[in-house]
Amino acid sequence: MTQLKKHPPIYVTQPFLPPLTEFIPYLEQIWTSKWLTNCGPFHQQLEQSLCDYLGVKHLALFANGTLALVTALQSLRVTGEVITTPYSFVATSHALLWNGIKPVFVDIDPNTLNLDPTKIEAAITPQTTAIMPVHCYGHPCDVEAIQKIADNYNLKVIYDAAHAFGVQDAHGSIFQHGDLSVLSFHATKVFNTFEGGAIVCPDAKTKQRIDHLKNFGFVDEVTVVAPGINGKMSEFNAALGLLQLRYIDQALASRQRLAAAYRKRLQGIQGISCLREESAAVANHAYFPIFVQADYPTSRDDLYQKLKDKGIHPRRYFYPLISDFPMYRGLPSAHRENLPVAAAAAERVLCLPIYPDLDLAVIDEIADCIALP
Ligand SMILES: *Cc1c(COP(=O)(O)O)cnc(C)c1O
Repeated sequence: MTQLKKHPPIYVTQPFLPPLTEFIPYLEQIWTSKWLTNCGPFHQQLEQSLCDYLGVKHLALFANGTLALVTALQSLRVTGEVITTPYSFVATSHALLWNGIKPVFVDIDPNTLNLDPTKIEAAITPQTTAIMPVHCYGHPCDVEAIQKIADNYNLKVIYDAAHAFGVQDAHGSIFQHGDLSVLSFHATKVFNTFEGGAIVCPDAKTKQRIDHLKNFGFVDEVTVVAPGINGKMSEFNAALGLLQLRYIDQALASRQRLAAAYRKRLQGIQGISCLREESAAVANHAYFPIFVQADYPTSRDDLYQKLKDKGIHPRRYFYPLISDFPMYRGLPSAHRENLPVAAAAAERVLCLPIYPDLDLAVIDEIADCIALP
């Protein structure tokens, strides 16, 4: 007989969904106007509302984060080689391949798991045109050190900010750094439109170019200025975003409580450590990674399996490293010796469930399970 579980499966994340009844008026408006896509009223409203909420001047919505990454690189005409992190979701490097760009992997900082700025310069060659760092788990990169290198070598900086919705440093939104920041509004992210994404742009001219690129390169009915793509967000997704925005502060506050509960409950367990507290002025607690160290009684993968057997599904983000996938592992920069910190992190990290509706009692259960291996 199968053992009865106390709760349904607990996944690493669960999308936040506002009450369905609140979505009906948006649908009625779409049905009445029959304006389904192509930068309709909800698209325009969401761009403005997100700019206001995030504290940025210009933002272009996309159908998903990956198309936004691909388009961001196109818009800055990035070519040749781009320095990036192996410790991320594959879309980061895939966006480079889709542009015919060679990824050059640089190791990460063990304290933040973000691209290590002290290792970037050694990877720069005459072909290098840009740096594409990731604010991993929503923790800000060392944006100042990265910008200094970019300025010295005349490189563009495109942040994959897919994890960093709402994150701020002392100067405000983390999305103000670099040339562009790319967001994902996928169902699993802190702010979701089911599928969606955006590029935060520094000025109106850049946004206009990106708006053309996401709409096949059309400027008007008869003018096409670039081989653009179809990256537009639909009115349905934009309406979802407007509704989600009403609940985002509540969702972020809930994540903060849950992260604090994890830290308290996991404190002092031998062989378990949490990622260092945020350097961000405003954090988003998008993920809750722990390190299963060598002095923990079992392996990381044994703990992963033990939690799964209890109906709790943590994730080994980011294992395998991007540089270990077949389309990357032949690159000289993909060698393990070049990436020891990232390789160690990929072997040690477990991301525990965190999402706004997660019950505190489940955190107790997870902590108990980790404490008694
Ligand atoms: C989710 C994610 C993406 C891709 O975004 P989609 O909206 O799913 O296309 C890119 N980079 C990182 C780091 C991500 O986590």
